[in-house]
Amino acid sequence: MFLNVRDMELRPLRIKREFAAGEIDFSTSEFSQASPLVVEVTIEFRPALEEIRVSGRFNVDLELNCDRCLAVFRWPIDKKIDLLYAPEEAVTQPEESGLKDEEVELGFYEGAGLELEEILREQVLLALPMRRVCREDCQGLCPACGENWNERPCGCRMQSADPRWSVLEDLKLKK
Ligand SMILES: [Zn+2]
Ligand SMILES: [Zn+2]
Repeated sequence: MFLNVRDMELRPLRIKREFAAGEIDFSTSEFSQASPLVVEVTIEFRPALEEIRVSGRFNVDLELNCDRCLAVFRWPIDKKIDLLYAPEEAVTQPEESGLKDEEVELGFYEGAGLELEEILREQVLLALPMRRVCREDCQGLCPACGENWNERPCGCRMQSADPRWSVLEDLKLKK
């Protein structure tokens, strides 16, 4: 969906839209979109500096693979956005725009406007976790036999000197 400056010159655009999985090309195999992406934004043109301000929020659920155990886990995103786009040709500094709010992120647009999908693609990528683990205490896979340690320990681990394992072993013996 192209957001044309012409259409927002008179009044801000208010957009509420849903993008089904596949409608936005994230060009990555690192995750898949597990719910529609719902966005609600106000798009405002500021003629003095020809800036476009996009504010509102969006939500979407992604499915990622755990870095440790490879299991698929859900990563819900519900993000507030407040973005400011300046025309590419006129490189403005954020302070010149009169917006000193540090929450505002600055980007650039070329030509007549911006693609909403492009904005959302970038925002989703920014909202990915740094560490992709299904849960904080995920035990991962045994490097020797591939057993998922979240499900059950394996023989290889019995021989290791991991103190956490001896506790588990004691519990097992009591059963
Ligand atoms: Zn995991
Ligand atoms: Zn093992």
